[in-house]
Amino acid sequence: MFMTVLISVLVVILLIHSMLNRTAMRRCNEDIDEIRSSLFELRRNARSKQAEINRRLAEIRVLILRSHGKIPENRVPFTITADCIACGTCVPECPVNAIADGDIYEIDPETCIACKKCADVCPVHACIPMTGPSKS
Ligand code: SF4
Ligand code: SF4
Repeated sequence: MFMTVLISVLVVILLIHSMLNRTAMRRCNEDIDEIRSSLFELRRNARSKQAEINRRLAEIRVLILRSHGKIPENRVPFTITADCIACGTCVPECPVNAIADGDIYEIDPETCIACKKCADVCPVHACIPMTGPSKS
């Protein structure tokens, strides 16, 4: 009789322990999911800022190169926006190897001949003509 009671108590303890473990695991998974989505958001913001920095730096380069007559006035080099998903599709299409890979791909405005081939293949329309210095 005593053994039966003891075994029953042990089973109940194990069940409670297992339930508590499951609850702790679920909370842990929820916390991890929350951290993961905030990291995803931070990364998205960082990429967006990096693309903006790339674009501004490229604009400065274009202005300097134009003032030295190295880029004709009528040539508008292409640039890559934060929408880039780094798929690499554009790279082999560029006839002058102006595209460098990275977290966000970059176009060298001096080398780009504005042929638009990268824009034609980009699945997310991230290759666009440089619009010039922005006031924003
Ligand atoms: S527009 Fe043409 S030259 Fe310029 S980066 Fe794209 S593919 Fe290369
Ligand atoms: S094709 Fe578009 S998305 Fe893919 S690497 Fe080039 S710019 Fe980025």
